[in-house]
Amino acid sequence: MLNPLELRPFKIKIVVRDGFHYHDSIKSGIAEHSIDQISSIKPNTEIDPMRPDAHHTAIAALDIGGTKIAACIATASGPLLRVVQLTLTSGTPDTIARQGLRLIDACCQQLQIDPAAVQSVGVSSCGPFEVRDGATGMIPPNLCGGLPNGDDLPNDWTFLPLESVLRERFSSVRSVRIANDCVTALHAERAVGIAPANAIYVTWSTGIGFGLCVDGHILHGKAGNAGHAGHMLLSETSQALCGCGNRGDLEGMVGGRNVGKHLGKPLEVIFRDAQRGDASALDAVQEAAGWFGRALYNLTTILDTEAIFIGGSVWRHNEALLAPLVQREIDGRFPALTRGVTVQSTMLGELVTDLGALALVMPADWIANWRTHRPWETLRSVPLDQTR
Ligand SMILES: [Zn+2]
Repeated sequence: MLNPLELRPFKIKIVVRDGFHYHDSIKSGIAEHSIDQISSIKPNTEIDPMRPDAHHTAIAALDIGGTKIAACIATASGPLLRVVQLTLTSGTPDTIARQGLRLIDACCQQLQIDPAAVQSVGVSSCGPFEVRDGATGMIPPNLCGGLPNGDDLPNDWTFLPLESVLRERFSSVRSVRIANDCVTALHAERAVGIAPANAIYVTWSTGIGFGLCVDGHILHGKAGNAGHAGHMLLSETSQALCGCGNRGDLEGMVGGRNVGKHLGKPLEVIFRDAQRGDASALDAVQEAAGWFGRALYNLTTILDTEAIFIGGSVWRHNEALLAPLVQREIDGRFPALTRGVTVQSTMLGELVTDLGALALVMPADWIANWRTHRPWETLRSVPLDQTR
């Protein structure tokens, strides 16, 4: 059995910047970071003062999606095991958070780790989020049957508590961190990938979401919803309807559900036909890549971005066709802002959000080892009996 090391006493200083709390441990022999020092942290090696200190022996990650939920346990040597279940969609509104806790326990049990050794949890979740009574919960349209258009779901949920339930188990100040899945992906790219201090992560899948990093600071926003730029309005004439209710926003027009909808063909058929040179399919793909690339250009002009990392099934399966079309939309405009901006696929694969959830709570002195040895590449992922 793995036992938690004894925590050394420490004091906490709280610095508030941009509405976000930074906690800085003050111990003899460790320099105190001023706000300016935190602001000028170098890429990829920053000491994130929200991280637990290095005495933590094990951390947990939850990756909550509309279809699946995964839990992962990691130590300094790397992630040890990942268990996956279908996301529960009936019961009380705290069902999913409690499923997450059970998955963490199941992971510990399989690893023969004392659950008490797991002292913090990072959560990567679909959003959007809302803060109620000081705790973050989520209101995902694809899980909440009580929202408009939720008639096909077996529940009447309108808000899913998350932080309040997790804090029943993980109660210390720095032990629970929650972020949108695109934001966590960017945390992973920053911590163990190659993302520089001014970077964007974007998922192009059924939906479209972003993580935004400026000057080394990953943006969270007032409720953790920074980066919901899939809902930026782009077209006044498009009738493409997004799940959020907008017509003509980015996700409505080029989310996986809507690309080439007017052609009446499944997405994979449209891309296959485009590869073969079918004119109408190629038009649909070029139009989608055009809108997507324009959105990236717009964000680049706003944030002065250096590198863009892309994941998600639409991109992953069609990168060869999409990449030059998207890059052209950026390169062709205002060179003073776009010169040298790179567009590339995430190098962290399908575990990028799990890694991001871990990165939220990973002690800073684990990072160098993970970057060198990439231990997630041998991570076991096992389905867990749905009855547990
Ligand atoms: Zn939308």
